[in-house]
Amino acid sequence: MANLSITNRCNRHCDYCFARESFQPESIGVTEMSWNTFEQSLNFLIRSNVRDVSVLGGEPTMHPEFIHFVHRLLGSGMRVLVFTGGLVNVRVLDLLEKIDDDRLSVLVNVVPPTINNFSLTKRQATLYRRLGSRIVLGINIASPAVELGFLLELINQYGLNPYVRLGLAHPVLGGTNCYLHPRHYPEVGRRVTAFGLEALNRGIRIGLDCGWVPCLFPEGGLSALGMTPKDVGSRCNPILDILPNGQVIACYPLTSHSREFIPIDQDDS
Ligand code: SF4
Repeated sequence: MANLSITNRCNRHCDYCFARESFQPESIGVTEMSWNTFEQSLNFLIRSNVRDVSVLGGEPTMHPEFIHFVHRLLGSGMRVLVFTGGLVNVRVLDLLEKIDDDRLSVLVNVVPPTINNFSLTKRQATLYRRLGSRIVLGINIASPAVELGFLLELINQYGLNPYVRLGLAHPVLGGTNCYLHPRHYPEVGRRVTAFGLEALNRGIRIGLDCGWVPCLFPEGGLSALGMTPKDVGSRCNPILDILPNGQVIACYPLTSHSREFIPIDQDDS
């Protein structure tokens, strides 16, 4: 599994975004991944026997070559998960809808109903309606008062993929993003456990993004969800992030700590 960040542009401004600090143009110097960097990255992933690629940004659908990149990845035998904030250009959505390949999924960074953004909610609903079971819902938890039940209603209403990915908003080293303070972990653990049980009752699986810790859950909560402390506590298994300029990081919140360029094989040029 690897993440390919193809652009640093985004049309949303999530206050918890942990990518914005690493996408300062003055520190990265490019905004869009070039075909050359894309091909070098793809070759690197193939050499590394990686077959699952997430395409991210920023907002990856804003990259002028986004659809061509997706076709190229699928044509190379990759399973592709596109991460989007949901504000997808109509022309790009038309093209995305036409890709008839069950190796393609689209993860939408969902807006909680407490954030009253009618236009964004409406645009996300268009994605759900048109892409249906290809859509995976994801949400980043930045507040202890998070409500999650609406995700199950969305899956039911639009026939979406019966899987929800839950992320925790983490602080970025040296950054200014908003995040969930550990003093709120027990409250979030209770809510996530209750949500997970309701989801399981409805045949919907939940998955935890990296950074969750076992002590966040109430006693017995993890086992009720079919997970072990080892499953959660060992989630810090860095997934490679390749940035638009070919630099590689292992963890966005720690990105100011270390960066490398992808090793280029001589045959990649
Ligand atoms: S949609 Fe993603 S990349 Fe864009 S601001 Fe929100 S969290 Fe950051």
